[in-house]
Amino acid sequence: MTAPASLVRIEGVSKHFGDTVALDDLTLDIARGEFVTFLGPSGCGKSTTLRILGGFERPTSGRVILDGEDVTLQPPEKRHVNMVFQDYALFPHMTVRQNISFGLELKGMDKAAIRKRSDEIMAFLELESYVDRYPGQLSGGQRQRVALARALAPDPALLLLDEPLGALDAKLRGQVQLELKSIQRRTQKTFFFVTHDQEEALTMSDRIVVMNKGRVEQDGTPEELYFHPASRFVAEFVGDTNLLSGTLRGQDGDKIVMDWFGQNLTGLAPGFTSAVGGNITASVRLEKLGLSAERPFAENAVKGKIVGKTFLGSRMAVDLAVDQTEGAILRAFVDAEAGGTFGADPIWMGWDSKDMAVLRD
Ligand code: ATP
Repeated sequence: MTAPASLVRIEGVSKHFGDTVALDDLTLDIARGEFVTFLGPSGCGKSTTLRILGGFERPTSGRVILDGEDVTLQPPEKRHVNMVFQDYALFPHMTVRQNISFGLELKGMDKAAIRKRSDEIMAFLELESYVDRYPGQLSGGQRQRVALARALAPDPALLLLDEPLGALDAKLRGQVQLELKSIQRRTQKTFFFVTHDQEEALTMSDRIVVMNKGRVEQDGTPEELYFHPASRFVAEFVGDTNLLSGTLRGQDGDKIVMDWFGQNLTGLAPGFTSAVGGNITASVRLEKLGLSAERPFAENAVKGKIVGKTFLGSRMAVDLAVDQTEGAILRAFVDAEAGGTFGADPIWMGWDSKDMAVLRD
């Protein structure tokens, strides 16, 4: 028998809690060895999906298929799935080795096999020096690694990770993100990661599913989501962007011309159809806007004055108020030192049509 192409299939899953629709007809395939991130604001249904995959919650309707088998009604302990919790849920009165061995004992493995497997996983995650320590004697990053070792020890087909880096400070978090990604690569396990942090999602994932109110807003690679957001929600939630609201002047194939405060701007809108004169919103990433003293050779160019600067260390955010156009402000990222030299002189901002994406509302 050949293995099914996807490891996990979530098929038409809905979950209602009284009047609350936590998930609304969700269908999703997860491939073997994929690092998939569920990203979205609080209450969008991330944890509910994770709990349904783990068997801690039953869907109101729909099915969950794991490795070709319908597991919708199967309890957690029967599934080939494990979970890393945000607070790690390590047993404080057990050493690192005991914590890691615990799940293997529950599976009824014999003592010698448990010792072998826990040694293996501790070596793999470089935890050998902490074998006899208790969780209280470890740093946050080390605790996180023990939790991961414990979850990986029984060799699950699917690992669920529920905001597992939330408790770490910003610097350590960045380091652990890279570590986690490398562990996923080396084990080739399927990771289903839940977070509300877009930067974290962009850094680690092969694929990001952006959720909004129990539905998939967009599903794609980090690059697709960032450079080609399909909706206003994704453009605002992932990365920093300028949102330009105007009306459609005309369309030629994939290109549109919009009227934005009296300026004709050109953008890309594959598959977009709308009536001339209709409302339209486009997104331009901050780093795609270039500043110059002379009119630039870009398809879109507006002139104005800099009215704000925010120093961000490696770069600077500058705000340009477009000439004689109340409310028309554009924000760009520029090199921090170059930004410091901009004065009160009129200046141009320019960008290409390929960097201006037309959004679905
Ligand atoms: P967060 O990032 O805050 O954890 P989330 O995206 O994980 O949010 P869920 O926990 O999946 O969101 O919740 C989705 C919706 O379902 C929310 O409106 C929540 O209030 C509701 N909900 C979740 N669990 C229950 C429950 N046991 N009883 C009632 N409503 C619930």
